[in-house]
Amino acid sequence: MTGSGLHDIINSTAFDVARNLTLFVLAVFWLGVAYWVRRDARRRLDDTWLVATATAVALIPIIGPLVYLLFRPPETLADVQSREMEVRALRKALRGPAEAACPVCRSGVHADFLVCPVCTTQLRQPCTQCSKPLEPLWQACPYCATPVGAVVEDLDVALTAEAIAVPQKKKRRAGAQARAS
Ligand SMILES: [Zn+2]
Ligand SMILES: [Zn+2]
Repeated sequence: MTGSGLHDIINSTAFDVARNLTLFVLAVFWLGVAYWVRRDARRRLDDTWLVATATAVALIPIIGPLVYLLFRPPETLADVQSREMEVRALRKALRGPAEAACPVCRSGVHADFLVCPVCTTQLRQPCTQCSKPLEPLWQACPYCATPVGAVVEDLDVALTAEAIAVPQKKKRRAGAQARAS
């Protein structure tokens, strides 16, 4: 009688210990999963309230964490940031190395544009010798070493000389013809 009673006590104690241990392990696992969800949500969500909601959902045993896994954002915030940086760098590369803005309409223009393609404002003068675009402050073309403006003056002088020379040539020719006849 006493032996069987002791046996019962030992049995029930072993059962209790096993049950308590199982409950303890389950509780640790439950809290561990909720903690993992909170940490994961903070990496993926910008909003404090959304992180709190995700953690609350994760506290529902078994179903909660599964629901979170189904609805969590596919990318972490760090992934999103690096992707945005990549896209920005790509856009910048597409726009060209020297990005500038038109002084009139503020639209993006390249460093080698002569005229704004949007509002047709003259941005640069082409070199009279090699037609490369010249910056307004440049005194000489850096591509062919032609002084800016000098060529135009020379051209003016040349044209003037030509204008003077043509009638003289005509006169000379007329004189020659007169002498010949
Ligand atoms: Zn413009
Ligand atoms: Zn030039």
